[in-house]
Amino acid sequence: MNFETFSFHPSVMAGVRALGYSIPTPIQLHAIPPIMQGRDVIGLAQTGTGKTAAFVLPILHRLRQNPQGSVRALIISPTRELAEQTCEVINDLGSKTGLQSVAIYGGVSMDVQIKELRRGIEIIVACPGRLLDHLWKGTINLSDLEILVIDEADRMLDMGFLPDIRNILTCIMNERQTLLLSATMPAEIQRLALEIMHDPVNVQIDRTMPAKTVSHTLYPVQQHLKTALLKEILRKTKTKSVLIFTRTKHRAERVAQQLIRAGYQVTSLQGNLPQHRRQAALEGFRNGSIKILVATDIAARGIDILSISHVINYDMPESTDDYIHRIGRTGRVDKNGDALTLVTDADEAKINALERLLDAPLERLTLQGFDYSKPVPQNRKLVSNNRKI
Ligand code: AMP
Repeated sequence: MNFETFSFHPSVMAGVRALGYSIPTPIQLHAIPPIMQGRDVIGLAQTGTGKTAAFVLPILHRLRQNPQGSVRALIISPTRELAEQTCEVINDLGSKTGLQSVAIYGGVSMDVQIKELRRGIEIIVACPGRLLDHLWKGTINLSDLEILVIDEADRMLDMGFLPDIRNILTCIMNERQTLLLSATMPAEIQRLALEIMHDPVNVQIDRTMPAKTVSHTLYPVQQHLKTALLKEILRKTKTKSVLIFTRTKHRAERVAQQLIRAGYQVTSLQGNLPQHRRQAALEGFRNGSIKILVATDIAARGIDILSISHVINYDMPESTDDYIHRIGRTGRVDKNGDALTLVTDADEAKINALERLLDAPLERLTLQGFDYSKPVPQNRKLVSNNRKI
């Protein structure tokens, strides 16, 4: 099976070739035909499976048949990074179609976006809040909309965007094709799908399971030794690009600074950074000039860099879903990747949940030569005592 089977418009096929895709991934294989028939589709697929191209290619094909210069496809994304990235995929795959797309999100000037929107944009990739601002201001008009995509719906729910999505839906009066992508299917998302979709085709790829190309290892350690262990792991492991996840923005900054002091090329990505700094951080990591990126969950959403060899969870993720999303950043498509997680005694319940999901015990490793018995430094004990922890 190759991409010729879908009979895409030649200008779309040119994009497929330019990106070097030869064989469709399973989600593409199963979702593209019903999308091309105009059916509503629910795609249950994790990141890294090629889900973006699975909806972008049929959209490009459809819009390319009769370009009109008005907004005909809307993709709603939970984060700016994912919106930017989806826009990039559209620009890459659609480079020969002449179709124009734009990413719309908060934190940047509305006026600049309004100017861009006047360029005859046919595809908008938007985060819910800023999209609503434009809809209410009348600077985005969805009266010609043909296709609506809700991407990473479960994450949208986690981030509290469901009311915004419902508000957006009230602004779309005409009949449309709806596609909903999600890594998991919580009850609220099922309800939303039932309400807004018409006889949807379900395409399910490896439901809530991490990609098979990723190996998982746990490193039990006391909280105060995490950074020391992280440095030792980095010293002893052959890595290409490393993405490190922390639980909080503050910790992402702190760990990044500690690694910089240890002589590594590191940048951090967290929600407090202004957009241009986030983009610079991502660009450095993407082009390989920076080998280590320390990020929080939300900031790292949608990062699409094929060469990430290792994901290191400095903190155990809150849920198994978060774990899947995080490690979906490595082992993408057919590359191999390693997921390393630093765990403390407090993480036992989360580890059990993860082992149940993976249906296998996870390997627990101790690093040879690392001093696991070092006590908590005196000054930290004092801080803890003062706070009566
Ligand atoms: P996604 O799941 O959409 O985030 O895609 C993950 C990665 O797979 C991206 O880097 C895509 O460019 C890449 N990709 C998507 N489809 C294919 C394909 N058919 N062959 C090779 N790579 C692909």
